[in-house]
Amino acid sequence: MRYKDKHQLAAEWQTLLERTPRPLRQAVETLVENHCGYFADHFYGVMLDDPHASLFLSNGQVQQRLNPSMQRWLSAMFTVEHVDFTALVEHQEKVGQVHARIDIPVNLVLNGARQLKQAFYQQINATFESPLSPGDASVYVSEHIDMAMEIMSHAYSVASDRNARTEEAYKLFSLTQSIGDERERQRSALLNWENELMFAVAAQHDIATLPKLANSDFGLWYFHKACHAFEGAPEIATISRHIQQVDREWLERLLHEDASQRLKALGEIRDAARTILMLLDDVLKRASGLDAGRDSLTRLLNRKFLSVVLSREIDIARHSEHSFALLMVDIDHFKLINDTHGHDAGDSVLQQVASILDRSTRGGDYVFRMGGEEFLIVLVDTDHEGSRLFAERLRQSVAKEPMLAGADTLLNVTISVGVTLHDGHPDYHHSLQRADQALYQAKRGGRDRVVVL
Ligand code: GH3
Ligand code: MG
Ligand code: MG
Repeated sequence: MRYKDKHQLAAEWQTLLERTPRPLRQAVETLVENHCGYFADHFYGVMLDDPHASLFLSNGQVQQRLNPSMQRWLSAMFTVEHVDFTALVEHQEKVGQVHARIDIPVNLVLNGARQLKQAFYQQINATFESPLSPGDASVYVSEHIDMAMEIMSHAYSVASDRNARTEEAYKLFSLTQSIGDERERQRSALLNWENELMFAVAAQHDIATLPKLANSDFGLWYFHKACHAFEGAPEIATISRHIQQVDREWLERLLHEDASQRLKALGEIRDAARTILMLLDDVLKRASGLDAGRDSLTRLLNRKFLSVVLSREIDIARHSEHSFALLMVDIDHFKLINDTHGHDAGDSVLQQVASILDRSTRGGDYVFRMGGEEFLIVLVDTDHEGSRLFAERLRQSVAKEPMLAGADTLLNVTISVGVTLHDGHPDYHHSLQRADQALYQAKRGGRDRVVVL
């Protein structure tokens, strides 16, 4: 069932607020104006005492920003003059999305809301006098905060679901990257199992000591990994059926008294193995064509996986001494290349630059095509100086390699690079923005240069 839309929520919220007489809401607004700083301090004080919460909040910049943004949130919430309830709804949605991005658990957010309400109740009880009812004021504050929490939580769960789906897609994508090797390995695993069986039969060994196909190396790979990775592929059910038939029927028949029956069973097993390999080839072939994760022109990673990669790297950095750097790379005056030499020449330059980026990075690094002639490198396990040096070498590599643009045209191409080291901030948007700013400065400074921020 669909959740209420923005306008329904806005209307519901407005009705809820208007149940409380205006003078009472006015008094709460005044309370917030006078005690905004106190509420925000109290909130973060309690949260920082919680070791679980402080994992997300201990970063200096978070504190610098969150306290004022909490105060802004309070003022926006408790003003008497809500001209635009839809904007209020959108505000809560945005907060929920940020919580999902930094993966802050919902229970912490709810705990925060509870702490905040308590601080309100105390202030209300201490200062509200007749005719202002402290009880009514508390109910108003409580319902108002609950409404905000409901919307935040919904936005949070929508965004988290989306993250989980992208993460799943990325897992599948990484699995299929080494599909060529996997195919060879599993092919020979299945053929090995078959050879051992044939040998045991020929040498009249006890075949009961051999593993069944489902328990062989091949079978284990198949049931644990392939079935999961290729779930839903039509071949999967057929392959499983063949494996079962081999184990339940043909292996049994190998024990038959009658030699012709045994021979027939061997033939069936051989046929089944061939069929399994053929079907598996089809699945794997299709999966290696599963290029949704790569950009078709440059073969670099598609930006849709950026959130998965950065969230994971932020988590790794949290538990390690090393950090990662973001390098925003943009080709200089690329439009001019297109305009002068044509779009195909532009494409060819893009491919060559992408290939330099790819060759220059280590196995653990990531190179994304962000769009157009802009790339992002996630340089793992590095520091300030290391990332600067890397960026500088990269700039030089591009500048000194003549690029082919058409049959006999060689061009000199340069890049500008904005570099920033992840500083512990839990929201990756923050680091991306800094890398963008650094790139912007590199462009403004004359291009063909590296700026570190
Ligand atoms: P600057 O140095 O400031 O980065 O200038 P620029 O010309 O590189 O940047 P601008 O953003 O003005 O132009 C980028 C151009 O890249 C415009 C767009 O048509 C072109 N472009 C984007 N994607 C592709 C692509 O896939 N292939 C080709 N050939 N061109 C592309
Ligand atoms: Mg450019
Ligand atoms: Mg650009």
